[in-house]
Amino acid sequence: MLNFVVMSVNLQTPIDYLKGVGPNRADLLRKELGIHTYQDLLNLFPNRYLDRTKYYQINQLQRNSADVQVIGKIIKFEEVAQKRGKRLVATFQDDTGTMELVWFRGQKWIRESLKPQTPYVIFGKTNWFNGKFSMPHPDIELLSEHKKSLSSAMQPIYPSTEKLTNKGISNRVITKIMQQLFLETNGRFTETLSPELLESQKLISKSDALFNVHFPKNQELLTKAQYRLKFEELFYIQLQLILKNLIHKSKIKGLPFTQVGDYFNTFFEEHLPFNLTHAQKRVLKEIRSDLGSQAQMNRLLQGDVGSGKTIVAFMSMLMALDNGFQACLMAPTEILSVQHYNGLLDWCNELNISIKLLTGSSNTSERKEIHENLENGQLQILIGTHALLEDAVKFKNLGLAIIDEQHRFGVAQRSKLWHKGPNQNSENPNAQGAIPPHILIMTATPIPRTLAMSVYGDLDISVIDELPPGRQAIKTVHRYDKNRLKVFRFIRDEIEKGHQIYIVYPLIQESEKMDYKDLIDGYASIERDFPKPKYQISIVHGKMKAADKDYEMQRFVKGETQIMVATTVIEVGVNVPNASVMVIESAERFGLSQLHQLRGRVGRGAEQSYCILMTGHKLSNDSKTRLETMVRSSDGFEIAEVDLRLRGPGDIMGTQQSGVLNLKIADLLKDSDILKSARFHAQNILKKDPSLASPNNKAILNTYREMGKYRNIWNYIS
Ligand code: ADP
Ligand code: MG
Repeated sequence: MLNFVVMSVNLQTPIDYLKGVGPNRADLLRKELGIHTYQDLLNLFPNRYLDRTKYYQINQLQRNSADVQVIGKIIKFEEVAQKRGKRLVATFQDDTGTMELVWFRGQKWIRESLKPQTPYVIFGKTNWFNGKFSMPHPDIELLSEHKKSLSSAMQPIYPSTEKLTNKGISNRVITKIMQQLFLETNGRFTETLSPELLESQKLISKSDALFNVHFPKNQELLTKAQYRLKFEELFYIQLQLILKNLIHKSKIKGLPFTQVGDYFNTFFEEHLPFNLTHAQKRVLKEIRSDLGSQAQMNRLLQGDVGSGKTIVAFMSMLMALDNGFQACLMAPTEILSVQHYNGLLDWCNELNISIKLLTGSSNTSERKEIHENLENGQLQILIGTHALLEDAVKFKNLGLAIIDEQHRFGVAQRSKLWHKGPNQNSENPNAQGAIPPHILIMTATPIPRTLAMSVYGDLDISVIDELPPGRQAIKTVHRYDKNRLKVFRFIRDEIEKGHQIYIVYPLIQESEKMDYKDLIDGYASIERDFPKPKYQISIVHGKMKAADKDYEMQRFVKGETQIMVATTVIEVGVNVPNASVMVIESAERFGLSQLHQLRGRVGRGAEQSYCILMTGHKLSNDSKTRLETMVRSSDGFEIAEVDLRLRGPGDIMGTQQSGVLNLKIADLLKDSDILKSARFHAQNILKKDPSLASPNNKAILNTYREMGKYRNIWNYIS
């Protein structure tokens, strides 16, 4: 008796070997769709499906219905002359009524091959035209043939390219190749999830899922298949991110901040300028627990503009100081660093803490003194710009590095801070005794939770999701340019009340010259309407020298000028509580998160504040949505969700490196519930079995390893 050994087909087999593919097609598949192996083909998931399980009667058709399928007979043909050439119109009838089938091309062939008075199945989009339904260029098949063919189910439509279609690799061909793949493999594929997960999440097996995603019998099976595959895809990304985080924690030793000491306690008990919000307290606890653990903190602090991140940063620095370490805070611009410095200076004086500011404009003797005192440990807190990253800046024992508005900094800059930890002046981060400082990254650009989980899954995330009490919502309106006089009148009234005004112009690289001209023209017209000496105006833009910018900014901060005309350089962080109006010119040209940031510059005091979005008359749909969203909502997270929907994840900071864009079947926006579930289970599994050593998790471990081998999953993270 013969023993049949069912050889399992290696899915890494080059696609050329699949029957029906051959070198030419293989080449096209590689170039056009990135399909190199059997596996790649298997993971080419349909974009959509034509539901051919349902049949409509003619009297059930709706105007503009998507693809519908009808059974009937052609009762007559007619040629109708039109501007150019003619069209062929067939009257198609079933028991409930008649409709028209229309062809603009291939009329001769159609007339000859279609038989009147014979049952056909037609499939396509319908139009409502001249009081009748019509279907241009229907998919048409004899009912008798149709009953025999596979097409009486959900028909997959695969991603394609023009080149593929031109070279004859139609959807039908891809479907055929896919069928061949299932034939050669017997449709048996190695299970990639654990039996426990399959059971508890009611997931169908890998083989069933793959079969039903490519050849679904009905919508229900398709939904199950898609769910299973989406879950799997998101599960492995999360597993990877969480593992990376765990490895980081076990490998990267942290500086032990064992105690909460005098600085923190004195500040908390005697100098706290206001009650902390619940969110601020919660975040401080999270940070405290990181700093007290043996591992290096790598935490992202998200908090809307004005949510009070600064005091959290300061109190975290106090924890470092209490344990005998130094701390630094890096901000993206000179203005912001100065502001942080001024803000923290009073508190530091009260507590007898030495603090200094280091920026590009610090002079040589200041620098020298700072460098010395950093190295001998007399200087406890250093605030500054990129200047902090210079090699000459050496700390005695840097324990905590805080980065404000991290999206302005690159990964390289972030990692430079790592090397400023104690005993670490060499290039080698693993040098003996080298311990990186704890890192806290702050951002006011909220990232939707689901995206954050994927992009920053290797960081721990804290969120301040509560504004300090007593904030009044900023009234936001959209005004057209022709209402400018009214807007100016309103501004005059606000200045009358002693308030200050921002007027912001876009600055976008491609049209820098024009933008600059707009700004200068705008400034001239504002000067005309708000004449000196009654009104004083500051102007700040990118072409000015840093010192001039700073001078103008300071005049505004001190209240010497009532109006600040600026480009987006004032976007982040600037704090002038007396400013009550933010006018944004050409608001349609700003992105949502930028608009939100700019608006956050007002509403920082007790007075009612306003944001006025000025635009021209012609607006794209996206611009309209952006403006409406700003008028409707002040919730940074809600705004970020809309932003994500409008732009897709590709434009959101950090997604490029994260791999979330390479998702094959899941969709970050639509599948956020699946993502949460996948993350939860990945966490759970790793909590119980961090090395995936248990027999239960064998499938997971194997899959994870395979992925590392064949797909560069390690690229998920920068
Ligand atoms: P951001 O998160 O945008 O950096 P800031 O830290 O600059 O916000 O805080 C914005 C303003 O709110 C500051 O004037 C700050 O003093 C104030 N503030 C912060 N936390 C509180 C609080 N718990 N209660 C009242 N005011 C607060
Ligand atoms: Mg801030």
